[in-house]
Amino acid sequence: MKGFAMLGIGKVGWIEKEKPQCGPLDALVKPIAISPCTSDIHTVWEGALGERRNMILGHEAVGEVAEVGALVKDFKPGDRVIVPAITPDWGSLEAQAGYSVHSGGMLAGWKFSNFKDGVFGEYFHVNEADANLALLPEGIDPAAAVMLSDMVPTGFHGVELAEVAFGDDVCVIGIGPVGLMAVAGAALRGAANLYAVGSRPVCAEAARAYGATEVINYRNGDIVEQILDRTHGKGVDRVIIAGGDVDTFAQAVKMLKPGGRIGNVNYLGEGDYIKIPRVEWGCGMGHKTIAGGLMYGGRLRMEKLAALLSTGRLDTSRLLTHRFQGFDKIEEALMLMKDKPRDLIKPVVLV
Ligand code: NDP
Ligand code: ZN
Repeated sequence: MKGFAMLGIGKVGWIEKEKPQCGPLDALVKPIAISPCTSDIHTVWEGALGERRNMILGHEAVGEVAEVGALVKDFKPGDRVIVPAITPDWGSLEAQAGYSVHSGGMLAGWKFSNFKDGVFGEYFHVNEADANLALLPEGIDPAAAVMLSDMVPTGFHGVELAEVAFGDDVCVIGIGPVGLMAVAGAALRGAANLYAVGSRPVCAEAARAYGATEVINYRNGDIVEQILDRTHGKGVDRVIIAGGDVDTFAQAVKMLKPGGRIGNVNYLGEGDYIKIPRVEWGCGMGHKTIAGGLMYGGRLRMEKLAALLSTGRLDTSRLLTHRFQGFDKIEEALMLMKDKPRDLIKPVVLV
C-alpha cells in the first residue's frame, strides 16, 4: 500500500509498505477524511519525537472499516468510524489509574505517527477497535467529524484542565484550531468574559463566532497588560494555553487571579525550563495551579463529542478553511500546515 511518510527529520515523501496486520482485537481502516496536524509539523521539521524513518504520518481520520480481528464485537467491515488521535491500551495499569493517555509510558497512548504508522496510508491499524473506534453518526459530514480526532478533544481538554465554570472570566492564548475549540468549549462550559489571543484575522473572526467576547492581538503589546486593563487589574479566573512558547507561562501566571487555574495543551518544543514569575505566583503561595495534558482519546470520548455535532451544539466546519479532494492531496495539505498562510485555520483531505 501507499502512504505519505516522514523519511527522516526534515524529509517527507510517498512510500510503499506492506498492509498492516490486524490482531484479534484490532481493526484495519481505510481513510475517508484526514487532516494534518501542527504536531505532524513538529514531528518532521523539529524532530520533536526524535528520528523516525519511513513512518507514515497523520493521526486525524474518519475512515471505513476494512477488516476486524476475530474478537472485535461492535464493528464490522463497511462501518464508517471516527478514529481518535489517542488510542490507549485500555487494560494497562496507567489506564486503570485513570490516565489512559499515558498507557505504556508518558504520552504513549499517542501511537499513530509516533510509535507506529499513522493514518496517511491506504490502510491503517487501530488497536483495541471496540474501545478506540466510534461510529460516525448518520448525517455528519466526515470532514467536520475529523476535527473530533484531535482538535476538539485537545481544545476541550484545555478547558477541563483549567476547570472552567459558570461565570468565569477566561483567557485562551492561541486561536489556531486547538485554541478555537478551547474557546468553543469554554463558552459551552459557561465562561462569562472570554478573551481570545491571536493575530490572524481569520482566526479572530472564528474566535468571535465560537463565543469569544473579545480578541486580543499579542502583536499589539503585552497580553498581560491588555488583560489587566480589561479586568480592572484583577486578571482572569482561568487561562488556557494553546499557542505561544515557554515564556507564555509567565504571562499566564501574571494574568491569573489567585486561586485560578492554567490549562496547557500547547506543545513546548524549546528550552530546558518554563519560567514561573515568583512574585505573581504569590511567592509560591498564590494558589495558582498549572495543569497540562495530552488529550484523552478512546471510543466514549469520541461518541460524546460526536453527540455535540449531531445535536448542533458544536459546529466544527468553520475550522475547515481548505478542503482537498483525493488521497494524493495530503502532501499539499501538510505543506499548507507547515507554511501556515494567513487565511488558514485547518485543511482537510477527502479521500
Ligand atoms: P496553530 O499554530 O494553528 O495556532 C497557534 C496559535 O498561537 C495562533 O493563534 C497563534 O497566533 C498563537 N500564537 C503564536 N505565538 C504566540 C505568542 N507568542 N503569544 C500568544 N499567542 C501566540 O496551532 P494549533 O492550534 O494547530 O495547535 C496548538 C498547539 O497544540 C500546538 O503546539 C500543537 O502541537 C498542540 N497540540 C497539542 C495536543 C494535545 O493533546 N495536548 C494535540 C494537538 C495539538 P497567530 O497565528 O494568529 O499569529
Ligand atoms: Zn495532533
